[in-house]
Amino acid sequence: MRSQIEALAALQRVDQSLRENTQALHAGESRVAALGEAVHSHETAVAAIEEELTELGSRQRELEGKLSAAESKMKDRRMRITRIRNDKELGLAKREVELLKEEAGGIETELVTVLEQVDVATKRLEAARTELGALTSARDAEDAELRDTIGRLGAAIERDRGRRDELVSTVDADLRRRYEMIFSRRGGVAVVPVRGGTCQGCHMHVPPQLYNQIQRNEQLILCPNCQRMLYWQPEGEEASE
Ligand SMILES: [Zn+2]
Repeated sequence: MRSQIEALAALQRVDQSLRENTQALHAGESRVAALGEAVHSHETAVAAIEEELTELGSRQRELEGKLSAAESKMKDRRMRITRIRNDKELGLAKREVELLKEEAGGIETELVTVLEQVDVATKRLEAARTELGALTSARDAEDAELRDTIGRLGAAIERDRGRRDELVSTVDADLRRRYEMIFSRRGGVAVVPVRGGTCQGCHMHVPPQLYNQIQRNEQLILCPNCQRMLYWQPEGEEASE
């Protein structure tokens, strides 16, 4: 029994290491994904502002074209007015010039608004690009480190798996299944020593009769309180654990 429990305790150390390394590996992978996601969302934001500016630019050119057309038409009508002798025709031509003036004024107002929007969007684009740049360099710097860590953890996990296979072959199959069930249900601690009459898993006092049975090491004893597998560890042996 003793050697079986000792093998299980060794298996537990490997399993705890496996669990810890696997969690760290997942945390590293999540961090890589989160950094990538942050860069991606900033890239999307920059692209959206660039698109907005493209649209504003074409609206600006359109308005500038309309304004120059209205202005040249106005110039043309004014030239014509100097040659008109008929009062009725003159009145109509002047009215047309007035309308063109109004039209040009409206276009100018709209153009000013568009130019202001271009200005605001340009500043926003600059800020967004700066932020993206900073984020990308931070990502690149951290990424290299994370990939290094992930590589190391992967290798450690491989080693643990190999060691686990070796240990598993030395443990009775039923005992191992019970151990695995307790390990998963009891937060990664299935095999615990009894020290000073106390279960080191839940720190409850173990009844003296049970304590004697554990010391005999003849059968598997579960803690009556936390249901973990108990083994006897004499005082002063903690250091070797
Ligand atoms: Zn206990």
